[in-house]
Parts: sequence; C-alpha cells; structure tokens
Amino acid sequence: MTLTTSLGFPRIGARRELKHALEAHWRGELSADQLQEAGRELRARHWTLQVDAGIDLPPSNDFSLYDQVLDTAFLFDAIPPRYRALADADPLAGYFALARGHQRDGIDLHALEMTKWFDTNYHYLVPELEAGQAFALRGDKPVAQYLEAKALGIETRPVLIGPVTFLWLSKTVDGSDRFALLERLLPVYAQLLARLQEAGAQWVQIDEPALVLDLAPEAREAYRRAYAALTQGPRPKLLLTPYFGALGDNLELAASLPVDGLHLDLVRAPEELEAVLDRLPEGRVLSAGLVDGRNIWRTRLDNALLLARYARTRVGADKLWLAPSCSLLHVPVDLDGEKALEPDLKSWLSFARQKLGEIRVLADALDGRDTAHAALDDARARIESRKASPRVHRPEVAARLAAVTPAQAQRASPYPARRQAQEAALGLPPYPTTTIGSFPQTLQVREARAKFKSRKLDEAGYDAFLEAQTEKCVRFQEQIGIDVLVHGEFERNDMVEYFGEQLDGFAFTKLGWVQSYGSRCVKPPIIFGDVVRPAPMTVRWSRYAQSLTQRPMKGMLTGPVTVLQWSFVRDDQARADTCRQIALALRDEVTDLEAAGIKVIQIDEPALREGLPLRRAQWAAYLDWAVESFRLSASGVRDETQIHTHMCYSEFNDIIQAVAAMDADVISIETSRSRMELLDAFVKFRYPNEIGPGVYDIHSPRIPTTSEMVELLEKARAVLAPEQIWVNPDCGLKTRGWPETRTALERMVEAARILRGERAAAA
Ligand code: GLN
Ligand code: ZN
Repeated sequence: MTLTTSLGFPRIGARRELKHALEAHWRGELSADQLQEAGRELRARHWTLQVDAGIDLPPSNDFSLYDQVLDTAFLFDAIPPRYRALADADPLAGYFALARGHQRDGIDLHALEMTKWFDTNYHYLVPELEAGQAFALRGDKPVAQYLEAKALGIETRPVLIGPVTFLWLSKTVDGSDRFALLERLLPVYAQLLARLQEAGAQWVQIDEPALVLDLAPEAREAYRRAYAALTQGPRPKLLLTPYFGALGDNLELAASLPVDGLHLDLVRAPEELEAVLDRLPEGRVLSAGLVDGRNIWRTRLDNALLLARYARTRVGADKLWLAPSCSLLHVPVDLDGEKALEPDLKSWLSFARQKLGEIRVLADALDGRDTAHAALDDARARIESRKASPRVHRPEVAARLAAVTPAQAQRASPYPARRQAQEAALGLPPYPTTTIGSFPQTLQVREARAKFKSRKLDEAGYDAFLEAQTEKCVRFQEQIGIDVLVHGEFERNDMVEYFGEQLDGFAFTKLGWVQSYGSRCVKPPIIFGDVVRPAPMTVRWSRYAQSLTQRPMKGMLTGPVTVLQWSFVRDDQARADTCRQIALALRDEVTDLEAAGIKVIQIDEPALREGLPLRRAQWAAYLDWAVESFRLSASGVRDETQIHTHMCYSEFNDIIQAVAAMDADVISIETSRSRMELLDAFVKFRYPNEIGPGVYDIHSPRIPTTSEMVELLEKARAVLAPEQIWVNPDCGLKTRGWPETRTALERMVEAARILRGERAAAA
C-alpha cells in the first residue's frame, strides 16, 4: 500500500483566522491563552482536513504563530541578548518582539531582519547568531504539537528545519562563520530527536531546502558532519526533505546522507528521479513530490502516475510515499470557498485541500483501487478542457509574439541621442525632482474605494472623488515646485491587481490568501490565459492629470516582470513567454500614453531581482528574458519620450549589467537608509544613464531634514556626474500620511535647489 503524506499545510486558515487572532492579540483584545486556543483549533481543523482528504501521515510542527524559522531560533534559544529579558519574563511577548519589535513601557527593541524564503514570496525572520553562540532547548513545541495531534487520534510526522539549512538562513552579527556553530547546534537537535522518539513519533521530517542551492564546500561538509552525528543517538526515522529545485551537484551528497528516507521535488526536477534512484541505498523510503506546492493548477495526474509507477518498480511499494513537491504553505487553503470564479477556470485549479485529494487519487491508482479510474478520467477531462479553451489560447497573441523582432526591444537611438532629444522636449533643471508615483492612500481614499466596490458610491461619484484627489495632488506638487509630477495613483488598490483586473487572461479569487509574513497575506492574481489588453488602462488618469498642468506628468505602469512575479503563473507555457505577453500589452499602454501627450513614463520593476533563480547558472537566462521583456514594453516610443524605471531595493552588485541593459533613461532606487552605500554598484560599473538615488526613507514616519538630504546628494555627487542625478524619495508615498509627506517633499525640493545653486556658483 502506497503511503500518502504532506510536507506542511497553510496555517493562516481559510478565512485568515490566524491573522485575525494575531492582530486582535496585538491590539490587546485577545489574551495569550485565547490566541493559543485559536492556534490549537486551527491545527486540529487542519489535521482533520488532511486525514479526511486521504493523507495517511500528515505533518505536525508545521504550524507557527509567526514564522517557522523564528520558531526554530526560539526553540534552540538563539535569542539575541536585547530580547532575552523580555523572552524570559513573558515568552510569547518575547517571541513577538523578535518578530515585530517591541515598543512599550520604555523598552524599544527592533525586530529581526526579514527576508525571502528561497524563491517564494514568503518572508522569514533571519536568526542572529554570534561566535560561540550557545544553544539549548527552550520549550518543547515540536513534541507538544505531536502529542496534541496524537491526542486527537492522528499520528503525525513532526517537521524540523534541518541544522544546515537553519545555519544557512541565519546571519552572524560579528561576521564569524555560521557553519562553525554546527557542533554546538547538533547536540540540541539530538536531544530534541530523542524527546520526539520518547513521545512516540515514528518519523521526523527534516527540511533541508538549502540542498537545492549552490553550496560552498564548507556547507557540504557541514551536511556530512550533521547527518553522521544526528543518526547516532535514539531518534525517530528521518525523512530528509529538500525542495524548490533540482539537487544538481548536491545529488550525490543528498542521496548518500545516512537518513531513512529522501524526498524529491519532482515538480521542479522530474529529470532527477532516475539518477537519485540509482544512488539511493537499499531500503530507503522515497517521498515523491508529485503535486505542485507552489502553484494552483490541477496536477497532470497521468504524468505523475508514470513517475510514481517507475519509482515503485525501483524502491518497492512499501517504500514509496506520495507527497506534494514542498509544503503547501505557498497555496491558498481551499478552492471550495471560491463561489465567483468562472466554472471552467475553477475546474482547472487545485488549492491545498484539493492537492491532497490528488495525492490520494495517485496512491489509489497506484494500488489498483477502482475508485481511481473515475477521478483520473475527470482530471484528464479538465486538463483537456484547459488545453482547448479559447479563453486560454488566443491565436492573435501567439502570432504577435512570434512576429516580435529584436528591433522592437530597442529604442530608436542610443541613450546619448535620446538625452538630447529629452532635454529639448522637457527642459528640466539640473537635479530634477520627482516622486515614485503614489501619494498617501488615506482612510478617505480607501473608504471611497470600498464604498464604490460595495455599490454604495456610484461610478460618477467615485470618479469625481478621484479627480478631486488627483487635482489636489497635482496642485500640491506644483506649489512646492516638483519638476516631474505624478497623478498620485489614488485609483489603484495594488500595483499588480490594478493592471491584472484590466487585462484578459487574469483572474482573481475571493479567498485565495497566501501568507507573506506573520499576519500579512497576499492574494496573488491567477494568470490563466494569453494576455490581451482590451482597452487602455491608465491613459484616462494620466491624461486628466496632464490636463491640469503645464509641467510634465509622469505616466505610471507596473512592469512585466513584476506582474509575473507577484502572480500565480500558468504552467502550460514558459514563464518567459507569459512575461513577453504582458510586456506587449504594456507596450501598447506605453505608446497610448505617449500618443495622449505624456512625455515621461515610468515602468516599475521592484520584483526584477527577486525573480532570480536559486542557482547562479540559471541567472543569465532569466535576466535575458526579464530584461528583454522590460525593453519590449518600453521601446515603442520616440527618442524624446523619457522612460523611467523604479526598483525599491538596493542590492544591485550582482545584476548591475542587466539593470543597465534595461536601458531606461532614468532609474530610481532605494538608497537613503544605507546612506548611499548602495550606489557602489552603479559607480564601479559606471552606470551610463540617469539615476535617482532615494533621499527620503518612506518606510519610516520620520521626516528628514533638508541638510540630511543635501548631504546624501553630495555623497551621490561624489561618485556620479551631476547631470546624472535625480532627486526623489526611496519609493512611493502611499503608506505615508499627508503632513509628513508635505514637509519631507518641501525639504527635498529645497535640497535640490541648494545643489543647483552650488552648481551655478561653481560654473
Ligand atoms: N509606483 C509605485 C508607487 O509609487 C511603486 C511601488 C513600488 O515600488 N513597490 O507606489
Ligand atoms: Zn519602490
């Protein structure tokens, strides 16, 4: 009998129950006990749901009140000194202090740094370690949650983050070697494994996604040492679970570690099955990750079944487990909650609960149960209907893509010629000032949108409201003397959703929430079909805003890579092709804006860097199509039309050539917090075009002084040509309030004037 299992379940709840409980607790409206009770309820519900869906061995300890990496650091007592007193006095408050910072009763602790969990949109908290770091077991969460499930009559497999991945995800605050801490960490793991065995756990799942990364020799060596040590003492059996990609050059290493079972992500790397089977020692369990834990499409069960059948001939029926490719944390909970999706589209989708059902069908088919036939037929019919759907395949889109010429991804003239044309067309002063696009999304703006959506405000009323907001914003910018204006983006809810809603080929769920970090969830659009722009998307607002002023009004678009990156993407064609389709739709928007008299157009690409593949060897291919897509969207305009792009992060060292290859006339980036250090890459590389290094940190309510901004600009001027420099904030202002925005921007304009004055005096 084939065993079915899963690697993790979304913990936020189908209706974001955990989010609501957490936020109520933070507001002081829900006690710690009540919060823990809400967690218990969710765990019980999710274990039951998994068993009911046909999963033989569901995971435990996949639940977290905030983040599984933070839980691991806390469990091993890797708590930086600044939080320790609080964590000892009140463990839950201490835990949340690490997660979110703590400002109360004269205590002011900043949170741990947060960063992306591999190539997902989930963010984890980065543990802070130091040389000589002591580890100890603090509490017994994995044991307690195992026993909690057991009390419900459900045998689970506790999930732990493996020691090497844990160290890989951590940082040392003193620059010492993380892996040097392994020997200190392993005894604590051993202690925990012994306790899990005592509690009765048969298996433990050890997550080691770092095995799909480019690893330095020290890290590989750490793997050997770690697993040799962990398999010494009393312990449950260990299932080693790498995921998110191919093992590649770590394949031999992974297959040779002395564990009891190995999981494979056969969605991302089906081609590795054979090689792993060739190397896997006799008697090991193989957990075949056949159902995509990263996307929302139904599984091609026939294909999955072929792989499963082959694996079974090699390891034997009692050693083959069927599983999702990775934890289901990255998909929404239950498709059944979606009442408004078009029936055909809905029939192509599979959320966490449906994915478990698919794993059950695969196991039944493998074991020759008759019930599987109907389910396989049904799955086949759905795949066929998707393949044949005219809503998915629009021949005109494929034809247009096939006809794209290299010239279309190229501006008419090189940058120096464009610069001249733009100078003549725009007549901007040196150190031109601008903003990144959005202005404060006040309660009033959000309320008006909500009223419009619930039909309490009619279209004309909403439109008039937006016009008034836009006009106020334009007048403000004119009054304080900004050079290139924006309309303020009051009509936009979200920078991807706003465009997705206006493009064919996109769909939106009502409850398709996915945890981003802590209590924060996102509801990614689903790109299901060829992308068509039925009508202009932003021209109405840009034209209106331009009609109010003589100054140049900047058109504002979200770039193709960012739209792709923040959506669930179709799995029936290459990501690159989907990206190019979006690019062509945006290209039409760009040329329409130009035709409407817009002389400056910004195409935001904040997600360009996070799209980088996990393995460096694949970077070049990705950057190729990502940059090409951006250029396709941007290059339909005349020389005198100025194209801007914006990226709200700062680590450019790795990708500076690609950023330059985008060939935007102006790029704005985040630099204020790092005091311009981030310009390094631009300087070393001699970035050829114009650049706006942010001088105002919009992530903080703090208002910088004029002289601080002047100082930042002087730092920039020390390394860039003055003609290259723009003056702007780090990012959009939508999370800020008007009072601080007003003062900060007035000072920013003043700072630009001071630099202009110095320049004039010098000349
Ligand atoms: N134009 C967007 C804004 O100003 C850019 C947002 C972003 O970079 N994430 O809000
Ligand atoms: Zn930004």
